[in-house]
Amino acid sequence: MKVLCPRCGQPVLLDHLEKSGGQSGICTKCKIFVRATYEKALYKETWEVHFEKQIGRVVSKEKTGDCDGCLSVLGISGVIIIVILVVLVLINGN
Ligand SMILES: [Zn+2]
Repeated sequence: MKVLCPRCGQPVLLDHLEKSGGQSGICTKCKIFVRATYEKALYKETWEVHFEKQIGRVVSKEKTGDCDGCLSVLGISGVIIIVILVVLVLINGN
């Protein structure tokens, strides 16, 4: 079976969908992911075809790593300030 990519019209070949009951493929032109299932019952055949495309930018791991680093640095500074305050309170108490 062949399906046409909804974006660019490129045929995507799913040649053993009916035998295996499910197959996935990808449009070679615009990289839309195609996932299809096939089911044969007594009085009907059913094809289900899904087209998926990632949109937006994928957040790189380096970026989140940097943010996590910033947060932990802030957290460490906060802990140090709290320790200094506790020490000052103890000194004043005595
Ligand atoms: Zn396409």
